[in-house]
Amino acid sequence: MDGVKPSVPLHYLDNNATTRVAPEVLEAMLPYLREHWGNPSSSYAFGHNLTQPLSEAREKAAALLNADPREIIFTSCGTESSNAAIHSTLATQPGKRHVVTTSVEHSANLKFCSSLQKQGCEITILPVDEDGALDLDRLEAAIRPDTALVSVMWANNETGVLFPIAEVAAICARKGALCHTDAVQAPSKLKIDVKELGVDFLSLSAHKFYAPKGIGVLYVKRHTKFESYLLGGSQELGRRAGTENVPYIIGCGRAAELALARLEEQNTRVRALRDKLEQGILTNIPGTTRNGPEEPRLPNTTNIAFEDIEAEGILLLLDRAGICASSGSACHAGSLDPSHVLTAMGLSAARARGSVRFSLGIYNTQEDVDYTLECLPDIVRKLRAV
Ligand SMILES: *Cc1c(COP(=O)(O)O)cnc(C)c1O
Repeated sequence: MDGVKPSVPLHYLDNNATTRVAPEVLEAMLPYLREHWGNPSSSYAFGHNLTQPLSEAREKAAALLNADPREIIFTSCGTESSNAAIHSTLATQPGKRHVVTTSVEHSANLKFCSSLQKQGCEITILPVDEDGALDLDRLEAAIRPDTALVSVMWANNETGVLFPIAEVAAICARKGALCHTDAVQAPSKLKIDVKELGVDFLSLSAHKFYAPKGIGVLYVKRHTKFESYLLGGSQELGRRAGTENVPYIIGCGRAAELALARLEEQNTRVRALRDKLEQGILTNIPGTTRNGPEEPRLPNTTNIAFEDIEAEGILLLLDRAGICASSGSACHAGSLDPSHVLTAMGLSAARARGSVRFSLGIYNTQEDVDYTLECLPDIVRKLRAV
């Protein structure tokens, strides 16, 4: 189809940042941009006929999580889902003003928590060890009678390290605190079953699983009190105001179906590519170390420290070679802060600054990995020579 063919970078190894829109997802969306562009809340058929495809998309999103469609709220992104979950737990439990989270969460979580602190809430930020792991005894001890929420991510976007969310949720249930997990990195890589996990809230972002940016999901367990973050119309059963983003919700539904179908491929073919890339770097380039343990980890992610050089230099030269990767560190107003995740794992600022994340996806090929392994040794040699 003319004009809609996605233009993807040649060697895209940054799938934890965003993913290419799957052609199947785009195809599913197009009719809702071109022809069926009504407002589902309208009284005439051209609008309210959209409620059927919307509920089908909701069923697909629910199926990805083994949830009930009534437990699904469509949001604008992963950030909104997390913010809304945290907001709701405080709004519905006015006597509870304490939140427990971890030092390696996404800024969507950490920044929102620090804004709560300014409003008088108390936040406990749990540390991680050198493997990026949580101490569950410490987590349990941190939960108090006034703890409104424990918010712990499932899979870390920078290192791929997994937290034992089912165990975290069991501790929360035992101690009477609600539990939210940022599961943005899970779809298509991990089997998600909210009944097995036992969490009260779970956040997703569809652009991390081959749908476009601008659509997210918040799972809210049935019978959990919920207070809307966005106020206005009564969309999403009154839990998220704002006219439904119909084409993107349809795309999210299709992407959810694909994510289920691709679980196997991510855990076999993509995992093998990731392992080949990681082993290739660690054995062929001196002065390299993996950040974080081999397991438990996402099948697509590797984070590698390159001694004596800055990740920024590596990324620049990789970019010139047509390879996209990232450093996990955020560039704030020109000053380069080392990654808060790697720093929390006890890595020195120098090692954190020399670390690069490669995250693979279903559109990667053997050729992407071979080409990267071909380019990297020269890049590292060049940078170490200066
Ligand atoms: C990308 C990401 C987010 C933010 O999702 P957006 O849709 O970009 O707001 C949150 N958490 C994790 C772990 C992520 O990787």
